[in-house]
Amino acid sequence: MIEFYLNSRKIRTGAPPGGALLDFIRRDQGLTGTKLVCKEGECAACVVLAGTLKNGRMHYQNMCSCIMPLANAHGRHIVTIEGLNGEALTPVQQAIVDCHGSQCGFCTPGFVVSLSGALLGGRRPDYTRLIRAIDGNICRCTGYKSIERAVERIADELPKEDYGLETLIREGYLPAYFRDMAERLAALADPADTGLPEEEPAGAAPLFLGGGTDLMVQAPGKVKDSPVLSVFRQAALKGVREENGRCIIGAATTATELEESEIFQSVLNPEDGFFHLLSSTPIRNMSTVGGNLINASPIGDFTILFLALDSRVRLQDGLEERALPLKEFYLGYKKLARRPEEFLAAIEFDLPKPGQFFSFEKVSARRNLDIASVNTAALLEADERNVLQTAHLSAGGVGPVPMYLHQTAALLRGKVLDEQLLKEALAALQEEISPISDARGSADYKRLLLRQLMLAHFHKAAPDRIDIMNFCGYKPSRS
Ligand SMILES: Cc1cc2nc3c(=O)[nH]c(=O)nc-3n(C[C@H](O)[C@H](O)[C@H](O)COP(=O)(O)OP(=O)(O)OC[C@H]3O[C@@H](n4cnc5c(N)ncnc54)[C@H](O)[C@@H]3O)c2cc1C
Repeated sequence: MIEFYLNSRKIRTGAPPGGALLDFIRRDQGLTGTKLVCKEGECAACVVLAGTLKNGRMHYQNMCSCIMPLANAHGRHIVTIEGLNGEALTPVQQAIVDCHGSQCGFCTPGFVVSLSGALLGGRRPDYTRLIRAIDGNICRCTGYKSIERAVERIADELPKEDYGLETLIREGYLPAYFRDMAERLAALADPADTGLPEEEPAGAAPLFLGGGTDLMVQAPGKVKDSPVLSVFRQAALKGVREENGRCIIGAATTATELEESEIFQSVLNPEDGFFHLLSSTPIRNMSTVGGNLINASPIGDFTILFLALDSRVRLQDGLEERALPLKEFYLGYKKLARRPEEFLAAIEFDLPKPGQFFSFEKVSARRNLDIASVNTAALLEADERNVLQTAHLSAGGVGPVPMYLHQTAALLRGKVLDEQLLKEALAALQEEISPISDARGSADYKRLLLRQLMLAHFHKAAPDRIDIMNFCGYKPSRS
């Protein structure tokens, strides 16, 4: 049985745990304010708030219900547009009306839900934070300027004194029942319950469910009809910790949780904007690190990032755990060194030490909300003589699997980093990869892209030794 709150009502249902939450909301519950549009998490017309109880406080995030498995609603407070409506329009809705931020209206509930969720973070959000909350919401009438004006007004008008839940309820931003949700959720069934029947059908390995952002797009029918085990809600598989200089990330940690981790911020400076290149806020709130690695897409961003960090994966089958290097995990296109009953428990790597330089680069057809044409990462370290002591390189979109660049990295290690060495490495790189032409670019384009992105890693790591302008033969103009 799956138990959760849908707006102010408690739900207890035996509906298929692998079915889409959106279908349950619209068809079973008749709440049609949440819209069905792309069914691929691309437009957020279907966005709902998913509230979780953490340390006695409610924590709300927007998520795409069209690809959210019902199993992942278990133990949460799910809020649809109907759950925000009161007798009068909320100030968020009123601002959208007054600023003409709604045209055909189909995307409007999604915008209202995302914006209302952003008010709930505990501190008063500014314009930038509100805009970021709607980075996944698409308006097909392209009324973005009016929506931006509405967001400006919301940011200006938000209460300045005593900002918090009580004030938001008093000022009509939220209905009063939000006040009781922490208590009501605490009385619900164990949110970490896997959702599997106690007696599994003999021999059947369950389908492991992360956030569903790959699985529910690729094979929604299969998920609905399978026994599923939600790793997404396993507290034991979540979180980022450090042990003796090693970073250990639970497989069910979401992209948002990783972004917020101070430990991970020491690997990737938030200013570098890695997470802004990765899907959108509602998708980052759902997508797990483990799902990215197991999906085995040749362009998975986390996969490419963790390959260059020379990571190891920890696999469990319920009885035993084993670890293996991530670079030995991918055997062929979507073929993994993993038994069906094994799930990914964690990924771990040595935190970069002072003097080590880590870099990630990605190019996609659109800057935002797009998967990579080519992505690559590098971990580099040169000693005082400029001899490369560490060189780990990875690349996506240039072969059938996410690639650890064994040969190119081996050629670099133990040699003095200069432009001649880089030329040799770039030549070796072209021998090592085998891109194909597809919708994301021709094979030649991907070869060129990877060459340039590799140059970017080395230029950023050692700008005094690798002068990109000189390397590429550009002469300064004499004007
Ligand atoms: C709109 C949109 C934009 C996207 N943009 C990007 C992007 O920019 N970059 C990018 O890399 N990806 C992107 N993705 C893909 C996706 O979000 C990521 O790959 C994500 O990390 C998958 O995680 P998940 O938890 O949702 O996986 P799921 O869909 O739940 O699972 C994926 C696979 O992993 C298996 N699985 C999940 N967890 C485990 C586990 N612990 N053990 C064993 N098996 C497991 C599942 O059975 C399934 O086979 C995007 C997806 C969408 C819908």
